[in-house]
Amino acid sequence: MRIAMPNKGRLSESALKLFEEAGLKAEFLADRALLAQLGPEFQGIFVRAQDIPEFVADGAAELGITGRDLVEESGRSELFELLDLGFGRCRLAVAVRDDSAVDTPARLPEGTRVATSFPKLTRRHFESLGIGIRVVPISGAAEIAPHLGVADAIVDLVSTGSTLRVNGLKEIGTVLDSSARLIGNRAALKAAGPMRLSERLVTALESVLRAKKKRYLMANVPRDRLGEVREILPGISGPTIVDILDGGAWVAAHAVVDADQVYQTISRLKELGAEGILVTRIERLMP
Ligand code: AMP
Repeated sequence: MRIAMPNKGRLSESALKLFEEAGLKAEFLADRALLAQLGPEFQGIFVRAQDIPEFVADGAAELGITGRDLVEESGRSELFELLDLGFGRCRLAVAVRDDSAVDTPARLPEGTRVATSFPKLTRRHFESLGIGIRVVPISGAAEIAPHLGVADAIVDLVSTGSTLRVNGLKEIGTVLDSSARLIGNRAALKAAGPMRLSERLVTALESVLRAKKKRYLMANVPRDRLGEVREILPGISGPTIVDILDGGAWVAAHAVVDADQVYQTISRLKELGAEGILVTRIERLMP
């Protein structure tokens, strides 16, 4: 099964890393090759992120990885989303010059000229607001257009917002939230055989993404405090309690905890008198 992968740009490194973590390390057939083996069952074809919706919709690859912004802009109904991969987060935003009095897209007047490389999504957004705009199609660097007098507003991707700021623009609304997605061509996936292969890929990638948000925590705790330990370490199905050889009044408690709660969890365990606390990353998690 073929997967169209971004060959450069923001998404390419993260996509390769995610596949490697899922046990599907890209083995390129030659240096800078456009083809790579991704484990025994998948072949990666490396193309521009912008072209991936077309490649997948046309069936050149059954699956693809690209930004939601590009998938939606392509408007190809053959495509469906299998998984949000979490990286490449950004938003397609409406921005105007800093000195504009307008603070929301709904206040832009009829006939506003909007520079963008996302003409379809831009038209659809302003249609939904009931405002007739004129799209000024450009392929990049939209930020300059309002200062050159060729547009009154822009619709462009924003991540931190610093590009807008240094270009004297302010964000006034969001058209779409985006991140990298695993997409598929429904007909091509059916023709390629049972859905199980793509489902296995989704399961593998999902298990890595889930594991990133979790940590495995181990601690030695007093046996007579296990009631409280259970409250602190709910884990997936309660903590695992393990005897310690010659541990006396002590047992070991193991649990999967939220990565962003580790600090609080450790503090609470310390208050109970826990010792030998160990926290490790998890590579994969399949509940
Ligand atoms: P920032 O200055 O962080 O707001 O980034 C904005 C610039 O980076 C714009 O030129 C965007 O086109 C580009 N950009 C930000 N995030 C992404 C993304 N996830 N995918 C593609 N381009 C992006």
